Amino acid sequence: MNDIGGLVIQKLDESFKAKKKRDRLDRALEASVNHASSIGWLDDCPRHLVLMRLAPGKEEKTEDFDYITEEGHFQEKILGQQLTEAGLAIAPAGPMVSTELQLKGEADWILTEDGLKYPLDGKSCSSQMFREISHYKTSDDLLSSKAIWLRHYPAQMYSYIALYGLAVSLLLFRNKENGKKHAINVPWSSEKGNRYLDGLKEINGLVSREELPAVIDNEGICLRCGFCNSVCYAEGNTPKAAATLIDDDDLRAALDRRAELERFSKEFNSLDKQIKERFDKQPGSWLVGDFIITNKPYNSTTYDVPEEIKKQYAKASARNKFSFKNLAGAL
Ligand code: SF4
Repeated sequence: MNDIGGLVIQKLDESFKAKKKRDRLDRALEASVNHASSIGWLDDCPRHLVLMRLAPGKEEKTEDFDYITEEGHFQEKILGQQLTEAGLAIAPAGPMVSTELQLKGEADWILTEDGLKYPLDGKSCSSQMFREISHYKTSDDLLSSKAIWLRHYPAQMYSYIALYGLAVSLLLFRNKENGKKHAINVPWSSEKGNRYLDGLKEINGLVSREELPAVIDNEGICLRCGFCNSVCYAEGNTPKAAATLIDDDDLRAALDRRAELERFSKEFNSLDKQIKERFDKQPGSWLVGDFIITNKPYNSTTYDVPEEIKKQYAKASARNKFSFKNLAGAL
């Protein structure tokens, strides 16, 4: 076999795709219930939850998304191993179903500490996302995140608390690049928890009557939804649907960071100009705090070419014009 590397990759890809196909089939078969991991959609778009029940096969997921999810599962296994090695008493949580709420969920583990039990879910993330998450202390911080999937975690944890009949749940984030951890306790809150549970009852009513809530027409959310191009904007009746959805945490974090730096770059340019103007007319060096400022005059040459001569050398070339629209304000 000449291309053993190619064969290995081909076999891995085939096995991955077959597994994902089975997962999707299982998920479609489970459309008779709501899933704890999706309940956070109640805050963003109840229609999404109704579609998950009535048209689960239409939810589009990119191949990148599948690979990220698969990698997340491997990372969670590593986390489980580390928790056990640390002497923490964890056991598989097992699936739980509430027939009353038509709700199914399965936390990763049940942690027992000092006689108390906690549903515990492990979440892996990139370094860039971890930097953002490590500033979060409470479920309210998660709920105000710009990242839709982070906003959905508290609802998932409230669902686990309701399903397992416990008081406090725990989210444990793991940076998949350096293994650092960050924990956020999610205690039961009657106000927030019951809001989700009541919302679920409404979803169940809509599903039984096969009633679909109207589209929310919020591009910040819809472009992150798997039903965008397949159901809600399938006719292409909005330019918003023309964008291709990419599920890439790192790219998202890079764009968030770019937006942060853009703000700093404006401040930098303004301060740079202000400081240089102060020393503009005086060659020399000055010591200010930890900085030496030097202004050294030099000669530069410019060419004052008449417009008609310039035109003779004009050459057209194709360029790309990028624009970055920040949808965060729309959320
Ligand atoms: S595309 Fe928008 S309106 Fe349609 S289900 Fe998704 S989030 Fe809701």
